[in-house]
Amino acid sequence: MTTRNLENMKALRGIAVSPGIIIGKARIIDRSRVKILYQYLIDEKQVHKEVERLKDALRATQEQIVTLKNRMPEQIKQHAFILDSHVMMIQDGMLSDSTINTILQEKINAEWALKKSIQNIGLLFDQVEDEYIRERFHDVENLGEKILRNLAGKEQESLQEIDERVIIVAHDLSPVDTSEMNIAKVMGFITDVGGRTSHTAIMAQSLKIPAVVGLESVTRQVRDGTLLIVDGNRGEVIIDPDDDAIILYQEKQLEHQRYESSIVKIGRLPAETMDGHKITIKANIEFLEEVVAAKDYGAEGIGLYRTEFLYLRGQEFPREEELFEDYKQMAEIMAPAAVTIRTLDLGGDKFSSKLALDREMNPALGLRAIRFCLKQPEIFKTQLRAILRASAFGKIRLLIPMISGLQEILDTKEILEAVMEGLQEEGLAYDADIKTGIMIEIPSAVAVADILARHVDFFSIGTNDLIQYALAIDRVNENVAFMYEPFHPAILRMIQQVVKAAKNAGIGIALCGEMAGDPLCVFILLAFGIDELSMNAGNIPLIKKAIRSVNMEEVRADLEHIFQLDTAQRVRAFITERVKQLVPDLDKRAFALEAPNSISDSG
Ligand code: PEP
Ligand code: MG
Repeated sequence: MTTRNLENMKALRGIAVSPGIIIGKARIIDRSRVKILYQYLIDEKQVHKEVERLKDALRATQEQIVTLKNRMPEQIKQHAFILDSHVMMIQDGMLSDSTINTILQEKINAEWALKKSIQNIGLLFDQVEDEYIRERFHDVENLGEKILRNLAGKEQESLQEIDERVIIVAHDLSPVDTSEMNIAKVMGFITDVGGRTSHTAIMAQSLKIPAVVGLESVTRQVRDGTLLIVDGNRGEVIIDPDDDAIILYQEKQLEHQRYESSIVKIGRLPAETMDGHKITIKANIEFLEEVVAAKDYGAEGIGLYRTEFLYLRGQEFPREEELFEDYKQMAEIMAPAAVTIRTLDLGGDKFSSKLALDREMNPALGLRAIRFCLKQPEIFKTQLRAILRASAFGKIRLLIPMISGLQEILDTKEILEAVMEGLQEEGLAYDADIKTGIMIEIPSAVAVADILARHVDFFSIGTNDLIQYALAIDRVNENVAFMYEPFHPAILRMIQQVVKAAKNAGIGIALCGEMAGDPLCVFILLAFGIDELSMNAGNIPLIKKAIRSVNMEEVRADLEHIFQLDTAQRVRAFITERVKQLVPDLDKRAFALEAPNSISDSG
């Protein structure tokens, strides 16, 4: 197989976010809102036909909803009421009557009339004081969207319904879409938009399915059934490959699998440098189901449990008992190792329509994480109660996200103490000595890290957000993904400042952004003297291998040199060369970013 053959094929380069190579058929998922292409007046004779067209669409929508409900898996049957409410909305005529009246009176086409009805209903909902009821307008919009799809002859597909082995191709996927994927059927996914640390990308790693995002126009270049090769190690997608390319990538696939199985054994060994410095390696997880795999990969604890996904999955927020069971089981499975449970970090790209919030212009800078929790103390208290109760069954640490300054810590502690008192009064057990830490992921927290360190037991640096906020680049925006640079001297200085503040105060210092699992970054993090790195479990063996291949003395000397380099490009070039010298057989994945692309970028 020569490169020349590949050059004739259409290949796209995007951002590799989850490793592995797959060859399979495309399934296009249309997540765009239905565009109303035509808004037109109709004459008297067409009115009846237009009303009938609307009624047909309503009937079809109702049938689809009932079918969807009947096919719902048992585990989520309790959420079927939401579909019932959609059927009720069709039957009680709220939407249909007003749409039919608008067609009759204004003599406009059904789509336009439906859009107007939805807008009018929206105005009524806006006047309602009760947030919960106001939020129900999303259901009306959602239903309206389904009806519009039927008027346009398009049906929205749920990712649960995929019933053959396919590669999902979408403009964008939300973390909810990802959490609904039928993993037995979905081989991997590729999207037009997205960045390396978007939550959809992080979920793909957890689910161990290859994914490439930020391909810009892949949905326009691929049709349902098109054969694709997706290389999640290098971020490449080949459209309609010929036989030679398929054979080449089958070989690469085997090589990747061989590599993965050879390296997995290293996960069992300690993360210890050749001159005897040890560092703790933990796993980041999103679901309880991942804990066992994390242990198998060699995780020495859970360094970050992102708890948002239980809140994003169902139609209602989970209750205390459900959360308690989830956290308790996790603590029991991991014991005696610790599980670091991060309190709700909803908002940003982890948006839930269940949040009774207006859509924000800048969600990443909006009411997310601890800001949301402090504004909705009842939701926060429910989660804290569940975490504290679970802490009686293993070792749990509490982690608070998106802290920007001391006041949020003080406010959080006040709520935490109230929750503890409540549990005590009820005679419910919890670990009164539970360790509480904060995520350092906002530049203001870096600047006052010395102050914050006096009030908490540990820091965990969240570089995904820290880089986003420090370099002013949206982590889900593929247009600025190239600027997402952990080696930016500003980021390295910030990490150094936080580590120093933690060490001076004698508290623990961890890092749990994607940087922790990047083999090129690990040497720097090691040299900084960070106690604990937490990463996607699949990366643990590779990172342990990297750590076990170097001397602390050497990486510290390198760090001194790195601090004299003035651009991210110079730092990256230096580290890439050093890693090649220090660990020549480190996974090729580590060098994917700088390796020349042998495939023509004809997209
Ligand atoms: C981070 O910001 O680095 C982090 C670990 O949190 P998340 O990716 O969930 O925002
Ligand atoms: Mg974060």
